[in-house]
Amino acid sequence: MKTLFDLSGKVALVTGGSRGIGRAISLALAAHGARVAVNYASNAAAAEETVREIGAEQATAIAGDVSDPAAAAKIVEGTIVAYGRIDILVNNAGVTADGLILRMSEADWDKVIDTNLKGTFSVTKAAIRPMVRQRFGRIINVSSVAGIVGNAGQANYSAAKAGIIGFTKAIAKEVASRGITANVIAPGFVDTEMTASLTDAQREEIMRLVAAGRTGTPQDVAPAAVFLASDEAAYITGHVLTVDGGLVMY
Ligand code: NAP
Repeated sequence: MKTLFDLSGKVALVTGGSRGIGRAISLALAAHGARVAVNYASNAAAAEETVREIGAEQATAIAGDVSDPAAAAKIVEGTIVAYGRIDILVNNAGVTADGLILRMSEADWDKVIDTNLKGTFSVTKAAIRPMVRQRFGRIINVSSVAGIVGNAGQANYSAAKAGIIGFTKAIAKEVASRGITANVIAPGFVDTEMTASLTDAQREEIMRLVAAGRTGTPQDVAPAAVFLASDEAAYITGHVLTVDGGLVMY
């Protein structure tokens, strides 16, 4: 009997799937039966560890920098070479380069926009053609609550993450008739290497705003991706799903 959220037979690509939130999403999609291409930029050891944990028969690591459009196309190509198709795309790769606007360099602006926003565009563009052909696809873009309410010191990151929301809504309208959904997950504060450098004072300040009274874990975020990737979520598209313990309610 088919159970809810059964992803067997499906192929997923998770960008930045080697560490943090992407890693938890890769593991969760695999646990529900999907075969998973685990993309990473430079840390091959982390990607290999994620593949090992899933099992080599069900996962493969694919190197490639999503901010480079040619590399982005190759990541999708590599997924199709490995597994013959692509059903689920999770655009999760992301970086930060924080600073107040007065001190933010153009390089830090470009780096964050190019990885988070342009990377999402480039990988989606490459993946959408095979999805249209097979008349099925699930695109899940990882934004942030910073893209909804903004965050001081993160003008570049907030702009990129807000851009991802607009981009997702536009493509959701373009491809809905082809059996493809496009949705956003907007995490709040999640304990990963990305947030590890915050001071205890900064952490406490954020905690005061989180209704749940605790930080999130990558495992708190991953089930949202499984749900949005499932056949059961066919009628949900263009949606922004916050996973933030009640940090942002709007
Ligand atoms: P993380 O622990 O720093 O992991 C980042 C992942 O992205 C790694 O797998 C990394 O690969 C990969 N990556 C970075 N740049 C890349 C590039 N140019 N091309 C391909 N892969 C690249 O980050 P995280 O906290 O899990 O964040 C994952 C996503 O959630 C990001 O989009 C982030 O903005 C978003 N998010 C995070 C939080 C949070 O509190 N942590 C909150 C809201 C949203 P390498 O190891 O090879 O560099």
